Amino acid sequence: MSNPRVVIVGVGFAGLNAAKALRKAPVRLTIIDRRNFHLFQPLLYQVATAALNPSDIAYPIRSIFRRQRNVVSVLLAEVVNIDLDASEITLDDGQTILYDYLVVATGATHSYFGHDEWSEVAPGLKTIEDALVIRSRVLRAFEEAERNPDQADRWLSFVVVGAGPTGVELAGALIEIAVHAVGDEFDAVDPRNARVVLVEGTNRVLPPYPEGLSASARRQLEKLGVEVLTSALVELIDLDGVSLSTGERIEAGTVIWAAGVEASPLGRMLGAEMDRSGRVMVQPDLSVAGQPNVFVAGDLALVEGVPGVAPAAIQMGRHVASAIWADISGENRLPFRYRDKGSLATIGRARGVADIRGIRFSGLFAWIAWLAIHIFYLIGFRNRVFVLASWAWSYLTFRRGARIITGLPKHE
Ligand SMILES: Cc1cc2nc3c(=O)[nH]c(=O)nc-3n(C[C@H](O)[C@H](O)[C@H](O)COP(=O)(O)OP(=O)(O)OC[C@H]3O[C@@H](n4cnc5c(N)ncnc54)[C@H](O)[C@@H]3O)c2cc1C
Repeated sequence: MSNPRVVIVGVGFAGLNAAKALRKAPVRLTIIDRRNFHLFQPLLYQVATAALNPSDIAYPIRSIFRRQRNVVSVLLAEVVNIDLDASEITLDDGQTILYDYLVVATGATHSYFGHDEWSEVAPGLKTIEDALVIRSRVLRAFEEAERNPDQADRWLSFVVVGAGPTGVELAGALIEIAVHAVGDEFDAVDPRNARVVLVEGTNRVLPPYPEGLSASARRQLEKLGVEVLTSALVELIDLDGVSLSTGERIEAGTVIWAAGVEASPLGRMLGAEMDRSGRVMVQPDLSVAGQPNVFVAGDLALVEGVPGVAPAAIQMGRHVASAIWADISGENRLPFRYRDKGSLATIGRARGVADIRGIRFSGLFAWIAWLAIHIFYLIGFRNRVFVLASWAWSYLTFRRGARIITGLPKHE
């Protein structure tokens, strides 16, 4: 009998780790992703704020698996349908692929809470393209201010919506760009007068973190010069700024969306229960109810008490591999157990907050812990070296090496 066909859809943290943990398994692996690279999303904001280049945080999927002998196929394709009765998936070109085991690890994207029209004026941050759009808009805002000093207040105002880790990191980086990276490079305006406003709907920044760390994060942001508005919901976003539920209107040339999550639409094809954001309720072994050979892992999976973070996706990916291993070895599958490794967020160039196994600290040490962990998990030796070098340079000089405005000039 030939080895079972395992199809993994999505090479984010979950899919990547499932495939790697199966490297010695007697299976035939097909790996499918609509991008040809694995993306290290936790550092996307560094691309969006010109600290890193896109290739520093992306790694070609083919290279990752070039020596894994049970990988029979790596496909650059979008999966558009899952037929559970036929045990078959369909790719964007209509090609179908049969599976014995299916791992769906297609992640999540941002949600505008029913206001998709805001995506044009307030880009979110989920892909390399999003990061480049944000980088261009931020850098262009300073250029617009220089050319139109009478509108400098608006062009030098930046609003970040959502004070989760991404929003906090973006806001801290934006104020540092304005004050340090480009502060002394303009003639008609002074970027050091820039206004960065972080807007959050709940009553504190970093809502899932312990209250003490939220308070510390807020203090650190305010010390940097970020205005933090909590208990404020965004009611309208247009080209000139945002209107809030508090009645306040902020005129801003750049608005960035860092709130809301919506799971991958593939989850809807699995016939399982889902929550409001489309995450799929899974069985204790991460399989889909009634489909023991179909697994969901990572941000797409809904497991009580497990947050949508990279360590959870890594652990789920490995767990799915262990369940497949158990089947092959004739053993019982074990239930998934999440090991909380803690939470970290950075604030600007050398500050942060950390909660690691109940030990809470903030400031420079939290930033160093964040730096070490991100370098450790970053895939590829070249990426690690380049990222470390870029950070060292930024740390010592306050400069940012990737200040490139991409996209066509407005008149073309
Ligand atoms: C800006 C940002 C900052 C973050 N910061 C942190 C952080 O500091 N710490 C932390 O722990 N977590 C952080 N996260 C969350 C973390 O990145 C996610 O929890 C993690 O990436 C989830 O992994 P995943 O494998 O489920 O999905 P993803 O990493 O999203 O991977 C999904 C993969 O599926 C592919 N795919 C999607 N649909 C299809 C399809 N139909 N067909 C084929 N391929 C498809 C995608 O191309 C992608 O490669 C951050 C996320 C973002 C967006």
